[in-house]
Amino acid sequence: MNVLFVASELAPFAKTGGLADVMAALPAYLHRAGHDTRVVLPLYDTVDTKKATFEAIMDLEVPLGTHRYACKIFRVGNAPPVYFVHCPALYARGRLYTSDADEHRRFLALSYAALLICQKLDFAPDILHAHDWQASLLPMIIKTLFAKDPRFAKTRSLLTIHNLMYQGSFPVEIGPDTNLASVAHLFHQDLMKAGRVNFLLQGILYADGVSTVSPTYAREIQTETFGGGLDGYLRARSATVVGILNGVDYDEWSPERDRFIPHKYSASDLAGKERDKEHLLTSLGLPYIKGVPVLGVVSRLVGQKGFKLFDPAMFDLLRKHGFQLVVLGSGEPVLEALFGNLQRAFPRQVCFYQGFKNDLAHLIEAGADMFLMPSAYEPCGLNQLYSLRYGTVPIVHRTGGLADTVKQWQPRAGAGNGFAFEHHDEGGLRWAIEAALGAYRDPKQWQRLIQNGMAEDFSWDAQGKLYELVYARLTSSRRH
Ligand code: ADP
Repeated sequence: MNVLFVASELAPFAKTGGLADVMAALPAYLHRAGHDTRVVLPLYDTVDTKKATFEAIMDLEVPLGTHRYACKIFRVGNAPPVYFVHCPALYARGRLYTSDADEHRRFLALSYAALLICQKLDFAPDILHAHDWQASLLPMIIKTLFAKDPRFAKTRSLLTIHNLMYQGSFPVEIGPDTNLASVAHLFHQDLMKAGRVNFLLQGILYADGVSTVSPTYAREIQTETFGGGLDGYLRARSATVVGILNGVDYDEWSPERDRFIPHKYSASDLAGKERDKEHLLTSLGLPYIKGVPVLGVVSRLVGQKGFKLFDPAMFDLLRKHGFQLVVLGSGEPVLEALFGNLQRAFPRQVCFYQGFKNDLAHLIEAGADMFLMPSAYEPCGLNQLYSLRYGTVPIVHRTGGLADTVKQWQPRAGAGNGFAFEHHDEGGLRWAIEAALGAYRDPKQWQRLIQNGMAEDFSWDAQGKLYELVYARLTSSRRH
């Protein structure tokens, strides 16, 4: 199949979260599986162009309403090729996402550029795989403005929602910039009357298929609690909404061969893990004391991730149980302040490293004993999957992808791979952390628990096949 991916992130070039990891792995899997896969991405000024060879292959002009954007397209790699859209007027902002007045145009330009690239390369996609709101108008665009182009006549579209809370909602005045004024009746009319256009909603309405990144999240987003106002539309399309867990790139994330950790280890020989723990603590200026458990956090510090449960519970837990806590992340000032306060209150127990640092993320996965993800909601979550592979026991709120991957430890049966609390409150968090600390005190139990986690397989070879099945279903339903 010919598959066109359009997205706003791709590791290692442009990453704020899990989407970037998926974009690095899924197209590569499909390429290996024999599909002609192409990826289109903005060339943000933050992309390190020394990381690969960027070859200029064409110039394009993208019209958006009365605006005209001159773009240069660079190709990187061949397995599969990634086309970067270079347009400094749109992408030289020092960061991936903005609240600037032209935010909608930044990703409309990406969307149109992707189709123009296909035309110039004479690439006829069987599947257009659009990711998140940034690419959500594409299903509508190919069904209308590009409907006469035979290259898109048979294209079926799949919209993958990586996080329903980012919807791309704009004032209706941006309408002309979409080039879709001639089919304005296809926009959600009540919302237009209320003065808004919602890109993700348009994608949900017009994509041939909708997927999200875990089976539980696929169900949750069809409820009012998690639906972000779009649950009714998702319920209406329930038969086409599927949940496929993200896979893990085990070449990047395996303790046997992780280039960022000094001591490699495996399920059958865990000695390196203890030495990585010592290395982690000493490199962060914390004392290493054998037998004292280390809890890790690597996260964007935003409301979704649930850290407000730490205040004040974590102060009490640290005092009572004496464990250590290593936190890597940045984001909302109140959460940064919370971790700053914890560090000041417990200087020998807590280290807060404020920032985004891939090598430290790997070292925390290896060196910590437990990994905390108290997310209020979590579409898939990758860090708990990395944790399982590193023998770092996840402690999570049972929601979304966390519910699908972390199974509650049952000491008698020796079954389970982590700790999952049901109610998103301080009591839930406290219960799960104390249960984990209790298990940690029994080395035999703990070893079993660690090994259960390390034996799990969330590779892309398994998850990629599920996408192939969805593609096959979508293309088999098209008219020939
Ligand atoms: P989300 O996409 O909501 O941020 P995920 O768990 O799906 O959450 O993906 C997070 C990804 O971003 C993981 O690869 C994780 O290692 C990485 N990450 C998050 N915060 C940081 C950070 N501060 N430093 C380095 N990597 C980070």
